Amino acid sequence: MATNPRKYLIAGNWKMNKTAAEGVELIKEIDQLIGTQTEVTAVVCPPFTAIESAAKALEGSNVQLGAQNMYPKAEGAYTGEVSPVMLRSLFCTYVILGHSERREYFSESDAFINTKVLAALESSLKPILCVGETLAEREAEKTFDVVKSQLVNGLQGVTAEHADNLVIAYEPVWAIGTGKTATPEMAQEVHAMIRSELSALLGAAAAAKIRILYGGSMKPGNAAELLDQPDIDGGLIGGASLQAKSFVELVEIAKSRS
Ligand code: PEP
Repeated sequence: MATNPRKYLIAGNWKMNKTAAEGVELIKEIDQLIGTQTEVTAVVCPPFTAIESAAKALEGSNVQLGAQNMYPKAEGAYTGEVSPVMLRSLFCTYVILGHSERREYFSESDAFINTKVLAALESSLKPILCVGETLAEREAEKTFDVVKSQLVNGLQGVTAEHADNLVIAYEPVWAIGTGKTATPEMAQEVHAMIRSELSALLGAAAAAKIRILYGGSMKPGNAAELLDQPDIDGGLIGGASLQAKSFVELVEIAKSRS
């Protein structure tokens, strides 16, 4: 079993699931099962409509709150959007940015995602920047080029001082919600490349601090071998975060490796 010098982070991306009331139920179950552990950073990211009630349900809990997206301005005429200031006012600590579903369905570019990363950091929100290749890109052996380019462009203007507040999630698009998981070796290879790129961009000390999560059908049955890889510092979890039992099991597996 490996021990990781970085604190594991397990973040649940609920996507467009759970009403506010359902979210509160899930949080209560999670909180009851998870107890008072602090060894692993556990984060839930409900949809916007469930964030306020989630924040109330999480009062006194060690589980932290995140959002799934935001607009990179503090306020203004941006119909339908939500600002980092609004998220902070509801006690969000993290925000998922550049998820492949946003890149694909909402045409989010690296340049736009970069403005969000900078705006999040300015507002003291911790961005979880998602990067990852499609199946066609992997088959064309473009994985490293694609991931490197998403990383470099997404992190323009980010400096070593941001290292403590920055999280990267490697999410091979072909593994998201498909039940297909990257093998630990495949994931580690990309994570190691990401850390070396972070080192080139921000310096070795900063790169050593930044948590790199794996996402793509991570579940209790495959988490241990993924989390045992030296550059995998946690998971961004979709499907398995919608049930308290599997989400908490993932936190427990990470804890057992801390
Ligand atoms: C995700 O959407 O970030 C994700 C990893 O989903 P799943 O765990 O369902 O593959």
